[in-house]
Amino acid sequence: AQRAHAAGRRWERASADEREAIDWQLSLVGELDQAIASGALWVAYQPKLDIASGRITSAEALVRWQHPRRGNIPPDQFVPSVEAHGRAQAMTAHVLHTALADAASWRKIGRPIGVAVNVSATLLSDDRLVAEIGAALARWRIPADMLTLEVTESAAIASADAAIERLGELRQMGVRISIDDYGTGQSTMTYLKRFPATELKIDKSFIQNLATSRADLILVRSTIDLAHALGMCVVAEGVEDADCLAKLVELGCDTAQGWHIGRPMPGENLALMQAWQRAA
Ligand code: C2E
Ligand code: CA
Ligand code: CA
Ligand code: CA
Repeated sequence: AQRAHAAGRRWERASADEREAIDWQLSLVGELDQAIASGALWVAYQPKLDIASGRITSAEALVRWQHPRRGNIPPDQFVPSVEAHGRAQAMTAHVLHTALADAASWRKIGRPIGVAVNVSATLLSDDRLVAEIGAALARWRIPADMLTLEVTESAAIASADAAIERLGELRQMGVRISIDDYGTGQSTMTYLKRFPATELKIDKSFIQNLATSRADLILVRSTIDLAHALGMCVVAEGVEDADCLAKLVELGCDTAQGWHIGRPMPGENLALMQAWQRAA
């Protein structure tokens, strides 16, 4: 009741524009199940380039909402409200199953591509998570090490023993764990110490100007060295041009992702891109 009251007060203070935005997000969340059932909620894949081999060996699954009346809605405009209204599990399960189904179909035609799925921090406290991921891998017959879970660093998880334990269980199953948006959180050191991560994904804000910014170069170089010393792989996101990629090669980065490699695209296009690259 207290929460409803606070919400009511917030509502009274809100301007007409704000009310419209809140209203809109609420009605969107209400349409989630229908969007999943109709295919309006779909998954785009952004290729990840394995720098050593020069091949696309995996891709990040990025959720998209093609709304029948409102057009294409970017994830930043619906993921936070889906999470706030307790629907993260339904959305993530849909993305996970779609990504594993697509990975299974690529595998069948001789193009093994690993998939990375974004998992919001709130889900890490759900006891069903580990079993659900195990069941999904079994259902699509995907080896666990072809799945990466991208988890955003946040102070909340670093202190939650249950979340750390859950990630450890997933790690034991063979699932790969990536620390997403690395460098932008508040508890970086705690994370590195406690997280059973296999991969560190450096946030694009440090990568975009890598070829021209001395400060970014120093930060990225030492982050790569630190991650390697801790036995982790490094992914750079936001690689927008050839100069940036060349710098990452020089610094010994393992994987590159960004517009220069490829934009997020439908699964069919990703499989074609990988086939074309193999032939070249
Ligand atoms: P993220 O996980 O950090 O994903 C990377 C974002 O950077 C994507 O935005 C991608 O399209 C964009 N990007 C990729 N390459 C470049 C580049 O070279 N330059 C620039 N400027 N941007 C690039 P997108 O697809 O709009 O997703 C935004 C965020 O929404 C994601 O950030 C992630 O936090 C969230 N998100 C997306 N899909 C899911 C999902 O299935 N579940 C959850 N929980 N969150 C998701
Ligand atoms: Ca991500
Ligand atoms: Ca990221
Ligand atoms: Ca992000």
